[in-house]
This record gives sequence, structure tokens and C-alpha cells, in this order.
Amino acid sequence: MDAIEVDDLHKVYGAVHAVDGVSFRVRTGEVFALLGPNGAGKTTAVEILEGHRRRTAGRVSVLGCDPERGGRDLRERIGIVLQSAGFDEDFSVRELVRLYRGFYPRRLAVDDVIELVGLGDKRDARVKTLSGGQRRRLDLALGLVGDPELLFLDEPTTGFDPSARRRAWDMVEMLRGLGKTVLLTTHYMDEAQHLADRVGVMVAGRMVAVGSPAEIGGMARQASVVTFRLPAGADPASLPDLGGPMVTEGLERQVRTAEPTLTLHRLTGWAVERGLELPVLTVTHPSLEDVYLDLVTPTGVSS
Ligand code: ATP
Repeated sequence: MDAIEVDDLHKVYGAVHAVDGVSFRVRTGEVFALLGPNGAGKTTAVEILEGHRRRTAGRVSVLGCDPERGGRDLRERIGIVLQSAGFDEDFSVRELVRLYRGFYPRRLAVDDVIELVGLGDKRDARVKTLSGGQRRRLDLALGLVGDPELLFLDEPTTGFDPSARRRAWDMVEMLRGLGKTVLLTTHYMDEAQHLADRVGVMVAGRMVAVGSPAEIGGMARQASVVTFRLPAGADPASLPDLGGPMVTEGLERQVRTAEPTLTLHRLTGWAVERGLELPVLTVTHPSLEDVYLDLVTPTGVSS
């Protein structure tokens, strides 16, 4: 059984078909990222999984339960970390974590959770004195204190500075290490690429792609790009056919190719034969972001 199973899910708000026949699975122990432009239906789908919204049609199973009927038993097994949970600003970090801990039967020690999210030196600080990034850590601590099997993270690094983002990524890696299943939403492709075992891309209420970041990268319509620089004195006219069109950008030459291995083989063979060292040589493959942009722009939507 997968941690989350969704089959042909629909949610209609009046004239808006916010979720229009979505199916996907989240395997136990994996980090799954849901991507999609504003209004794609991500929040609606996730809130249905969390049991906060009723679906119009379809089958949904979360840890083996229907979230509409799972009730308290299911709520105790999942953790939800929202973008901005409102809580009493006069509590200290430790008081608030202790309060939330009281809601759960299976739970972690207050100080352990505070350490886990890196707020050890703030345990006695009032919530109102925390920075934005520290509040998000507190959000995570509150989501973790019930020792959930499955954690929902809503845009976990929105508004973070680069180092706070790295630390948040480390925390998600740590959750994976603890065997938790994580479903997160994000607008950052690098985040999905770095963290997610698999991603699902939603566009206009539909799931247009599901797979590992590498699999989705492999759906690219763009070619890979081999970039190199000729050594001083080398004659460009002696270059072999590199298997794709070559353009010159300043001192660098770029070859677009669907077969970067072949291009590299010919190029490096040419250089080695002449005893030359190429001062610059890189291969870039289309990123998840390139493919994402293909998928979410109207010509790229395949329904
Ligand atoms: P974002 O990235 O901006 O958070 P999202 O992918 O989470 O977007 P949703 O919030 O699920 O998108 O919204 C999907 C669609 O459903 C949008 O067109 C939105 O306007 C509509 N919608 C969401 N909630 C309601 C509601 N309570 N009543 C009516 N329409 C709604």
C-alpha cells in the first residue's frame, strides 16, 4: 500500500473545476513534490488529502484511510506544516511545542524536537521575537512533535534566505532519513530537483507529468548543450562534425545536441589527436525548470 493513493480526483467550486481528474501515488518513505503555477489546484488537492476539504468525486486514500472519514485516528498520524500557522505570540518556543505535543498520543520529546529543527538556543524565546525563518522552523517543530508518519509541507522555504533554505533542505533530508513520507508543494524547481524522489506537475487542475526529476528532465524537448573553448592557435576549420549546430558566444562555442556523448567523443578525440587541452569543456542537460516551463506554457500542455 502506498502512503497516498489518489484516483480520478475532482473538485468543483461553482464554475471552476479546480481539480480535474487527478491520479497519483506517493510511496511510503518518499519525498514527493507537487509543482504547478498559481491556481493549478495544488492547495485544493493537498487540503483534500489533509481532510480539510471535501472532494467532488474520486477515490483518495491517506495511510490507508479516507481522509473524509479518517477522523482523529488519521489526524494523529499526519503532520501539517502550513505557510503561516497563526499562534499565540506570547508563548515561548518550548511552551508552544509542549502545548501541541499534548494533542498527540505518539509523540517526540519537546527538547528533542526543538533541537531537531535547530531552535535549541531559542527554546525560551517568545514567539513574537523570532525571525521569519525561525518561525518556519517552529512551524516544522509543531508538525513533527506528534511523530507523524506522513508530513505535508506547504511551500517550506518561501521567503527564506539562501542559507536558511539550505538548512530547511537538510531538515527535509533528515525527515527522509527518519523514514517519514513527505508531500511538499513548492514553486522552486531547484528545491524539487534537490529534495524530491518524485515530482508531480499540475496545470489547470490536471497532473501533466509525474516522475523523478531525472525522468521528467528526460522529457525535455530541448537538446543538451556542450560548451567548449578552443585552445589558442587551434584552427576551428579542422573541427569534425560535432553532431549538432555550433554557435560562437564570445570565446566559447556551443553545440546543441541530442547525443552529447557522441559530441564529446568527437570533440575530445579531435583535441587528443592534436595534443591539445580544451580550456573549457562542460555539458548541460535541460533542467527540471526547462521542462516545467515547457509543460506549463500553453503550447506545452498535453491533456
Ligand atoms: P497557488 O500556487 O497560487 O497556491 P494552487 O495551485 O494551490 O495555487 P488552488 O488554491 O488549489 O491553486 O486553486 C485552484 C483554483 O480553484 C483556482 O482557480 C482558485 O481560484 C480556485 N479556488 C480555490 N479555492 C476556492 C474556493 N474556496 N472557492 C472557489 N474557488 C476556489
